[in-house]
Amino acid sequence: MLKVGTAALAAGAAGAVLTGGAGQAASAAPGPKSARTRFAPLPRQAKPLPMGPDGYRLDRIGPETYAVTATPGVQAAFVVSSAGVIVMDAPPPLATALPAAIKKVTEKRVTHLIYTHQHADHIANARVFGDVVRIAHAETARLIHNEQDPARPMPTVTFKDQYTLTVGDQRLELSYPGVNHDAGNIIIHAPRQRVAMMVDVVIPGWAPFRAWGTADSVPGVLRTHDVLAGLDIDTFVGGHIHRLGTPEDIKVSREFVYDLWNYTTNVMATTHMETYLAQVEEGNLWAGFRLWFEAIADKVEPMIYRKWLHRLGAVDVFTRENIQTIALSHAIDAPHDLSF
Ligand SMILES: [Zn+2]
Repeated sequence: MLKVGTAALAAGAAGAVLTGGAGQAASAAPGPKSARTRFAPLPRQAKPLPMGPDGYRLDRIGPETYAVTATPGVQAAFVVSSAGVIVMDAPPPLATALPAAIKKVTEKRVTHLIYTHQHADHIANARVFGDVVRIAHAETARLIHNEQDPARPMPTVTFKDQYTLTVGDQRLELSYPGVNHDAGNIIIHAPRQRVAMMVDVVIPGWAPFRAWGTADSVPGVLRTHDVLAGLDIDTFVGGHIHRLGTPEDIKVSREFVYDLWNYTTNVMATTHMETYLAQVEEGNLWAGFRLWFEAIADKVEPMIYRKWLHRLGAVDVFTRENIQTIALSHAIDAPHDLSF
């Protein structure tokens, strides 16, 4: 794991080159005190916003659209239509906050629940809304069916590419940009509200989570950034952390993931696996691959830190792993359409 010295941290915002890699492993396991200074400080735009008096944030993000955020940085949203409330996701950490927030805004009942995708951390509290219309991508329905999780009731309406949901005076455009963070992970766009929600792809102000948030397709995550960057919106709901996003956040996230992809691509062109296979016991392919992945990450990490450590949150936490995920994606996905 990367070790970041405190002196380098202090200069990090000024663009200091931080070193890391296999040869720099920490000499001792960090204790509770050193864990605070082990990672670069969060830039201002990544710091959490305060929760409200009831323990959650309720933000009005469109004329009739609201976002609800609670610790540990989980988000859902809802639109109030003339015929009922449309809820987007039902994360377990919002089990009480989301129904309470809706009640605070309207007396109308929830009639529709949209699943952004099938991951339990975003929808496993769906039953709190009872017998409503549940809309999801067909792939999400298939995956939920496989899991047999009683906390994630089956969708009642599914679609493949596009779906227009009209409820009373509200219209939402649901679309699927192909496999990305998860198969079936969709974009929800409310044009009149100037709002879009997509979960676990753009995390406003932050670098991607570990293994690109367990992305089913890393190239798909990049292509999805292209689609999100084309939306005409004011506010973006990303599903995590303590604040909402803007079109600028989408633009910055897109630039970061393409930098990560392109820098890794370039380094791979001059970092040959045979060199590393020759260094280990004959036939130990895994060991050769590991040294190769580490060599690639050793070269890409400082390039990324120089440009990004002060611009996004937690760049130094999972970037090393994410570089290695890209290296693997090159071998197995082999996309030829990605460049920025
Ligand atoms: Zn997810």
